[in-house]
Amino acid sequence: MKKPKVLICDDEEGIRESLKLILSDHYDLILTESGEQCLECIANAKDIGLVLIDIKMPKVSGLEILQKIKEKRPDLKVIVVTGYKSVETATEAVKLGAAGYIVKPFKSNEILAAVQNNIK
Ligand SMILES: [Mg+2]
Repeated sequence: MKKPKVLICDDEEGIRESLKLILSDHYDLILTESGEQCLECIANAKDIGLVLIDIKMPKVSGLEILQKIKEKRPDLKVIVVTGYKSVETATEAVKLGAAGYIVKPFKSNEILAAVQNNIK
């Protein structure tokens, strides 16, 4: 059976690697490290089932990416990943249409549950 596709966007390689370890058995992953890359993937791949985005990134922030995704693909579910100190930003993300948020440092079961519950 084909694995559902998850698009990951985080500027930190360590975080991308942890997410890969947690999710790659169950999902087909696309790893990106910037907002530009993330939006490009969304424009080109129509079969993405869920997007996981880091909020704090250089240049384009996760919140901006989220808004752009929601303008183009309102149906596409987005979960934001945020640092401990920016829970307010996470709440803001939910207002902007995020399906949920995960606070770093995350546990693998939190990530798995969030993806499993929201993926199309
Ligand atoms: Mg970051």
